[in-house]
Amino acid sequence: MTTTDELLNRNAERTVPATTGGSSAVPSRNVAVVTCMDTRISPYEVLGLHTGEAHVLRNAGGIVTDDVIRSLALSQRKLQTREVMVVQHTGCGVGTVTEDGFKDELESATGVRPTWSVEAFADVYESVRRSVRRVRSSHFLPHADQVRGFVLDIDSGKLTEVS
Ligand code: ZN
Repeated sequence: MTTTDELLNRNAERTVPATTGGSSAVPSRNVAVVTCMDTRISPYEVLGLHTGEAHVLRNAGGIVTDDVIRSLALSQRKLQTREVMVVQHTGCGVGTVTEDGFKDELESATGVRPTWSVEAFADVYESVRRSVRRVRSSHFLPHADQVRGFVLDIDSGKLTEVS
């Protein structure tokens, strides 16, 4: 049995709805959170969020990529979010690879060099600043002024704001 099969079984056995069941898809706190896919992070736990309150966008690193801008544009223009939190973290795996090193690895394994950026970083604080700048400078986001960046300490769960 694959993990997907097991998760399908878990879903079938659920007795409590996993959704709020409300009629609105608009986040009630009008905020979008961009964070890393790291399994140790639960944005709901870290921020005390409840289902229905926020858009949570996750990828490797919690990086504001073009695809995150795509989601934020829909979030702000169609679903009324007004604030963005960028939350990256200490001990992130994206900080352990290099741009060229990972691209070289992929190219030697597949014969194809990716056209996308790995977004590898050596300094998580600088990476947060870069992501925040991308939100602020995007032509597609009408509410780019209320964006703040943070580093989550993976051990303590505490957030440090990046200025
Ligand atoms: Zn990470």
